[in-house]
Amino acid sequence: MPEKLIFEKSVAGRRGATFPTEALQGFSIDQVLPKKFQRQIPLPLPEVSENELMRHYTRLSHENYGVDTGFYPLGSCTMKYNPKINEDVARFPGFAQIHPLQPIETVQGALQLLYHLEKILAEIAGMARVSLQPVAGAQGELVGMLITRAYHQQQGRQRKKVIIPDSAHGTNPASAALAGHTIQTVHSNADGLIDVDDLAKVVDEETAAFMLTNPNTLGLFEREIEKIVRIVHDAGALMYLDGANLNALLGLTRPGDMGFDIVHFNLHKTFSTPHGGGGPGAGPVGVAERLVPYLPSPTIEKKGEEYFLDERRPQSIGRIHGFHGNFGILVRAYTYISRLGASGLSAISRNAIINANYLRKQLEGSYPVPFNRPCMHEFVLSAKKFREKGVHAWDIAKRLIDYGFYPPTVNFPLVIEEALMIETPESEPREVLDAFAEAMKSIRKEIDDDPSRLTGAPHTRPVGRMDEVQAAKRLDVNYQKK
Ligand SMILES: *Cc1c(COP(=O)(O)O)cnc(C)c1O
Repeated sequence: MPEKLIFEKSVAGRRGATFPTEALQGFSIDQVLPKKFQRQIPLPLPEVSENELMRHYTRLSHENYGVDTGFYPLGSCTMKYNPKINEDVARFPGFAQIHPLQPIETVQGALQLLYHLEKILAEIAGMARVSLQPVAGAQGELVGMLITRAYHQQQGRQRKKVIIPDSAHGTNPASAALAGHTIQTVHSNADGLIDVDDLAKVVDEETAAFMLTNPNTLGLFEREIEKIVRIVHDAGALMYLDGANLNALLGLTRPGDMGFDIVHFNLHKTFSTPHGGGGPGAGPVGVAERLVPYLPSPTIEKKGEEYFLDERRPQSIGRIHGFHGNFGILVRAYTYISRLGASGLSAISRNAIINANYLRKQLEGSYPVPFNRPCMHEFVLSAKKFREKGVHAWDIAKRLIDYGFYPPTVNFPLVIEEALMIETPESEPREVLDAFAEAMKSIRKEIDDDPSRLTGAPHTRPVGRMDEVQAAKRLDVNYQKK
């Protein structure tokens, strides 16, 4: 039975909180709460007792799926476990109860943390400086594109064109367009990598930047990255790395060493700060030395033993977010990195890569893997051949819910039809990967024996298959009494 709405449980006159109606310690009710503050017309709230209220929301909370309840193989999202020590540290009063408008000398510890976090991220990415202000990956991309524009303008040229691979995340073209660029697509080759010849043809003196994801969204490392960088730099354009998912690169290689000029990080993916449900997140942006003047203002600087904010940066693209971004998220990422250290960080990437390849090998006998080679932190299956049975990638994803797993990303990247994109964070042990593989194999048998098990899924949840188009376009969460 699905849980009823709290409004449907309402019984007129039932109360969750009570107040005495008689005088209190010699004071009349009107003295305790002056008449003008007393409500004349009752609010149209549900009327339930406190324990009904508690049970209702506790039961609803058990319907949630999250990294604290199970494996979350959502590709390109890095749904890793978020260590609880991050939460403890973010709640330290010295972090949680300060205000960004406090005098600078009273928040030296907070600035020190930000200063150190910037240094650490710059070291991880091989960049000169990092801005912690952007609060999402997409906002980091926008910052990178605004920096690109400012850089070319400073060189006295108008370069409008940004090249983006056909396998890119949808935010890439959106961010480039928002910053006033036009988009040119470059195609993937038969190996699922950038077609370098195609790239050489589209790069010209109009090109402002090439936005690349490496490893790409198929989980494959661009083997010809040095050649790609040379082509782009020879044309006077910049190399932008979409570093939303650095889970395969930490401590193994650095975007700066590959020749990238700009990179954004998603702290809410790689660095274990919580995400989902729209935020809050953090999408810091790192740049090479020659782009440092354009970074958002203010930057955090140190003079002697004192930290301060530098607002006097004439070439800066300006402020991109209130204050210093999502400070609480930055504290969590700093905590995460601090307890791992350099060797712990590279162990993350090694284990994420091993996990992905282990699972890919387990599944390759049951599902086609279009680019079936050693991958990085994720890999992509295709459900195209099951179309003749009336089964789509979507149906496999929904059926997994019945097996107790969150579905993988579906129908992305666009270069693979009926894509199922599976990411295996380092935080999942072998037993969990085995259980997931068993579920996928069992679903494969169902496709052969009884595809209706899939097309009607999920069968075990309070609600079955939802109309996702209606849910996205005509979402209505307003309760109207019938
Ligand atoms: C998640 C992701 C983004 C966007 O990040 P948001 O924080 O959701 O804005 C961009 N690129 C890639 C490759 C991603 O996986």
